[in-house]
Amino acid sequence: MDTFGIKATLERLGVKAENLGTSTGGEWLKTSGNYVASYSPVDGAVIGKIQETDQESYESVIQKAKEAFETWRLKPAPQRGEIIRQIGNALRDAKEDLGKLVSYEMGKSYQEGLGEVQEMIDICDFAVGLSRQLYGLTMHSERPGHRMYEQWHPLGLVGIISAFNFPVAVWSWNSMIAWVCGDVCVWKPSEKAPLSAVACQHIVAKVFKENGLPEGISNLIVGDYRVGELMTKDKRVPLISATGSTRMGKIVGQEVAARLGRSLLELGGNNGIIITENADLDIAIRGALFGAVGTAGQRCTSTRRLIIHASVYETVKERLSSAYGKLVIGNPLDEKNHVGPLIDKDAVDMYLKAIEKVKAEGGKEVVPGGVLEGAGYESGCYVKPCIVEAESHYEMVQEETFAPILYLMKYNTLEEAIAMHNGVPQGLSSAIMTLDMREAEAFLSAAGSDCGIANVNIGTSGAEIGGAFGGEKETGGGRESGSDSWKAYMRRQTNTINYSTALPLAQGIKFDI
Ligand code: NAD
Repeated sequence: MDTFGIKATLERLGVKAENLGTSTGGEWLKTSGNYVASYSPVDGAVIGKIQETDQESYESVIQKAKEAFETWRLKPAPQRGEIIRQIGNALRDAKEDLGKLVSYEMGKSYQEGLGEVQEMIDICDFAVGLSRQLYGLTMHSERPGHRMYEQWHPLGLVGIISAFNFPVAVWSWNSMIAWVCGDVCVWKPSEKAPLSAVACQHIVAKVFKENGLPEGISNLIVGDYRVGELMTKDKRVPLISATGSTRMGKIVGQEVAARLGRSLLELGGNNGIIITENADLDIAIRGALFGAVGTAGQRCTSTRRLIIHASVYETVKERLSSAYGKLVIGNPLDEKNHVGPLIDKDAVDMYLKAIEKVKAEGGKEVVPGGVLEGAGYESGCYVKPCIVEAESHYEMVQEETFAPILYLMKYNTLEEAIAMHNGVPQGLSSAIMTLDMREAEAFLSAAGSDCGIANVNIGTSGAEIGGAFGGEKETGGGRESGSDSWKAYMRRQTNTINYSTALPLAQGIKFDI
């Protein structure tokens, strides 16, 4: 039964029962690849099938992308911005449909699906403004009659590898910025959510075509890691921007480095909130709750660890447990539900194993986990968000488990809390809940949080596109989205111009014949 109107949504987005997955923006390319099904974790149904990219069609894509780059890089950046403005409008028109498809294919709530598309629209707006602000510096030359400045040129082909949990937004963070920078993009979406990518490619290809632009500016290739590898090993792709697990990032980073290419890595997080004795507990509980159970714990910025001052530990534990008791788990398209499914049964297995393992290490379940069965849960992907009292050194606490498992830990001094907070291999997002200015500033200082994102009185998830997004340590070090992240998508050139009648050498070196 099609209660939520998925069929009409798919039709409007151009997603069919059988889809070709390889595109340069014109006719979609037939390949010798297999047709692979995309299943919805919401109800277990096959949404559609998609044909994987093969070596030959990959070559055609790269050729078209290289040709398109020759034209696109010479289009003035503000004119490139105008195209992105139109893409933003096309996304506004498709917001409800695309948000619903994201929700159905990935399993996040419809509200979060809409939020993901809104993020795409926001980055389009950001990129349009940026297209007039790709600034370089002017320096004072040490030589008389000389001028020195730097300019930023397009880099070339940008390979984008994305994860299942933000199946469309992360691509847009990369592609909209890369496009105003004059690059062309080749996107390999997650094999777990390829149809959302097909829908996006239909939307943007139409805009490029309507503007008389060549094929090859927006390209799509689909398949698993083997299709990703075609790009990571390919010298013709100077930048690989890869989002996903730390395990993937370690492989991709090495492959790209072996050919001295550039990589921008956005990898796993293990995000903590410190709740001090000076916290506004209403805000702390709400921030921790959404951070831990939103997207069923499948955000790179999901809250996984709460480090709580001993004096408020029991209160926080009780209030959170009571809030967990009120969570409604079910179909994410139904707006009365708070928590949807995990992406697939492998993710459910990982979640169950993590709970068993942390219990074996000494963890104590405060709110027990488990898999839900019965009407509405037929896909087998719905699990109960759980809370476990744990210690920082436990192996499971040190790892990112991509599921709604929240670890509670107790501290006595802020130094101890910060050490515990930073004592994990990942460094993506972090937060402190406090009304005490000294505590907040200590957390944000050089001796405080070691993460790429550090918040005060806000949870760890839900970043805005205006800031640079990314993290340190095993999170990979890359920065995407706002601020000056655009620099990763361009090549910098330093220019020195001599307008004098002499040829003085730098550093006063004499070389006369
Ligand atoms: P994953 O690592 O399994 O896959 C991510 C992408 O990498 C997929 O497209 C996959 O096909 C591709 N891939 C995997 N191995 C590859 C290889 N050897 N060569 C080339 N491509 C390869 O991750 P996932 O399960 O889809 O996503 C969840 C993970 O992503 C979590 O760890 C989460 O924290 C992380 N994530 C990080 C950010 C961030 O910005 N830091 C954002 C979203 C998700």
